[in-house]
Amino acid sequence: MTAIPVTIGRRMPVPAASGSLGAPAAPGAAPGAVGVGLPLVDSHGRVHRDLRISLTDRCSLRCTYCMPEQGNEWLAKSSILTVDEIVRVARVAAADGITTFRLTGGEPLLRTDIVEVVARLAGLTGPDGGGVEVAMTTNGIRLPQLLPGLIAAGLSRVNISLDTLDRDRFAALTRRDRLEDVLAGIAAAAASGLRPVKLNAVAMRGVNDDELVQLVQFAIDHDVQLRFIEQMPLDAGHTWDRDRMVTQHEILTTLATRWTLTEVPGRGGAPAARWLLDGGPHTVGVIASVTAPFCGDCDRLRLTADGQLRNCLFSTTEYDLLPTLRTPADPSVDAGIDRMLRACVKGKLPGHAINDPAFLQPARGMNAIGG
Ligand code: SAM
Ligand code: SF4
Repeated sequence: MTAIPVTIGRRMPVPAASGSLGAPAAPGAAPGAVGVGLPLVDSHGRVHRDLRISLTDRCSLRCTYCMPEQGNEWLAKSSILTVDEIVRVARVAAADGITTFRLTGGEPLLRTDIVEVVARLAGLTGPDGGGVEVAMTTNGIRLPQLLPGLIAAGLSRVNISLDTLDRDRFAALTRRDRLEDVLAGIAAAAASGLRPVKLNAVAMRGVNDDELVQLVQFAIDHDVQLRFIEQMPLDAGHTWDRDRMVTQHEILTTLATRWTLTEVPGRGGAPAARWLLDGGPHTVGVIASVTAPFCGDCDRLRLTADGQLRNCLFSTTEYDLLPTLRTPADPSVDAGIDRMLRACVKGKLPGHAINDPAFLQPARGMNAIGG
């Protein structure tokens, strides 16, 4: 395969074909091995099993830490991947050992073909014939109408975002008065058979840091798992301020005033560290991407709604799948997708550099990357 240098702020070209590509191969390969059916191992030994697929950059909310209130530069409609294109990429990814597809955005439930996307992804199989898991991160607003169809289509897990229980605060934070709709979505998920249902809350100083205990109690009362997220420099407006971020340490210190916290061992590649509340069974999680990065165990890749592969939320390099999908130079499109997946994995750095003074925030906001 052609060597792909990691370059700041541009899309990488399609890697040239090599003789062995496209031929199905047995699993268990060493890092750098190529061919559909081989695991996606990066140069630091991390095996990739999770693909986050952003279905749109559009959203029904305008969370301050994610999108600007107005003037967002939307992705061109013509560049948004069709369901056939998404499934084509995902089929190769599944053959290469991806076992979890998480649908995100923007707001994934705004896609009118969302049930078809879930159904077709849920039907994919891995190299050993085993099934895959299809999960979703959503603001929850359209869940009451859509959840039964999504579950029937094969959705296995759902995460819903909820930063506050106060209506005025919610309206200010998301610039939309939709708290009741989100709560109805959470109720629908809690009443469904899906487990665990997880809630995501971004903790922000002076915004919701006086609500941390109430949010956890809300999760306990609704039999769902809450995870706090440290705010990351991924807002479209590039206004992230380290001092407004509430750290994992602060979150745990606050929660410890109400519960005895016991860390749950065996986190694996999961982004959230978890703590038992008063010995369990309820837990709380913290995704401490800034103060306690978990890059060493990262097994995630991302596909943006406009067909860009990314190896990290914070990467400034993208691997453009659109030419491979729409104007393939190589008649074997699957081999081209496989090459792109491997180039993306190969370019993955050992960790993000948020805490490096030279850190450069990606040009895309979180809504266009896919959280
Ligand atoms: N619209 C859906 C939602 O809000 O759940 C899915 C997309 S959203 C980008 C995915 C997750 O990213 C949400 O839980 C959201 O809170 C989180 N998020 C967005 N911007 C963030 C930021 N700057 N720092 C930390 N988390 C962020
Ligand atoms: Fe929309 Fe999710 Fe971003 Fe909020 S965090 S603006 S709900 S994409």
